[in-house]
Amino acid sequence: MRVIIIGNGLAGTIAAKTLREQDRTVEIDVFADEKYHYYPRPNLIEFLAGNLPLERIFAFPEEWYSEQNVNVHLEKPGIRIFPDSKEIEVAGGKREKYDFLVLANGSLAFVPPIKGAEKQGVFTLRTLDDAFEILDYLKNRRRVTVIGGGLLGLETARAVKSRDVKVEVVEFFGHLLPRQLDPQGGSLLKGQIEKMGINVHLGLACEEVLGQDSITGLRFKGGREIQTDVALVAAGVRPNLRIAQEAGLETDRGLVVDDYLQPSHPDIWAAGDITQHAGRVYGIIPASFNQARIAALNVLGQRQKYEGTIPSNTLKVVGIDLTSVGMVNPEDGSFEELRVENADKGTYKKIVVKNGEVCGLICIGTKKGVSEISRLISRKANVEKWKDSLLEDDFDYSVI
Ligand SMILES: Cc1cc2nc3c(=O)[nH]c(=O)nc-3n(C[C@H](O)[C@H](O)[C@H](O)COP(=O)(O)OP(=O)(O)OC[C@H]3O[C@@H](n4cnc5c(N)ncnc54)[C@H](O)[C@@H]3O)c2cc1C
Repeated sequence: MRVIIIGNGLAGTIAAKTLREQDRTVEIDVFADEKYHYYPRPNLIEFLAGNLPLERIFAFPEEWYSEQNVNVHLEKPGIRIFPDSKEIEVAGGKREKYDFLVLANGSLAFVPPIKGAEKQGVFTLRTLDDAFEILDYLKNRRRVTVIGGGLLGLETARAVKSRDVKVEVVEFFGHLLPRQLDPQGGSLLKGQIEKMGINVHLGLACEEVLGQDSITGLRFKGGREIQTDVALVAAGVRPNLRIAQEAGLETDRGLVVDDYLQPSHPDIWAAGDITQHAGRVYGIIPASFNQARIAALNVLGQRQKYEGTIPSNTLKVVGIDLTSVGMVNPEDGSFEELRVENADKGTYKKIVVKNGEVCGLICIGTKKGVSEISRLISRKANVEKWKDSLLEDDFDYSVI
């Protein structure tokens, strides 16, 4: 039996690893667009900051792939899928036959429609090659503007700040981490980021990159300008849907998969950033990891259901503890929001409760209670009796 995996990111690699753990004989071929073996993308942040040497970026040593008998074909992207004849075409034109196919070709960094975004000095950070290009360009330049105040934008800002440059962050929405925080938490975080010497500008929509061939500044809606030598765009990602669409698989915002992680074809599975399950496109590691394991087990004939992943995010900026779990910005009045803020200590905690169950948590400036409340969220535990004291530092979670 031959399984072809398209993509050697987290999802493709975990799918290959799981297949091998379960079955010593299955033939596994991974076709990859990049020229590098798998590296966890968060390592790019540490590499950019100068905290992680190149040789420690990769998840496995080169020998791991031959020991595991996993054939990775670097710089050989799959360019077309022929579901009826169970083949893919790879760059160069060769066709490869499969018994089963796993699509794990992830997502691409999204650049909003900004005039002049093609100019030199405007970057996104998704791959190791992007990191090399940014570091090379930064050599003689002193001013960096990060477009996007989400997790990736703030972590990137902190990374380049440690290269001794002046860093500004601009965010379209009215507060930082719009997907993970509410305005109160966002405001506290802004103060903490600014204390690190990073300027934050909120509510600014970037319209134009200024300069001839290379960037000299950015112009925002309303006419405001910021002079800068480099722009790092961190405005989200979009699933890589082209080959799936051309093969006639159902796509929406992502590649639509059922509970067994199959798109609309019996010999094909999908995992990771490319997927859309139950209306959700996750774009995070825990979901990609779970999906890759389940997809691999299902390729081998198990019928495991994917039941979704509760989004859990931690901001990895030294000196700031910040965790956001589940639903943090409820859309209607059927949710209760309970908050505790201590401005002197720089701490803020909030839980969101519906029908007696906690379904969301924000925790800034402290880790106290984070793992316990996260477990309550996963367990869907009823906390009605304790909800008013749940955020107290000395609350005894063992009573629930
Ligand atoms: C800098 C950075 C930091 C991050 N930090 C976090 C974090 O702290 N926590 C978190 O939860 N998430 C984080 N993420 C998001 C996380 O990395 C993704 O959710 C995860 O990488 C998804 O894995 P994937 O394998 O589905 O997709 P990808 O990582 O996108 O990998 C897909 C691979 O497929 C390849 N490919 C594309 N098309 C083809 C083709 N046609 N043929 C062959 N190969 C192809 C791509 O080149 C890529 O290597 C971060 C992302 C970035 C960029």
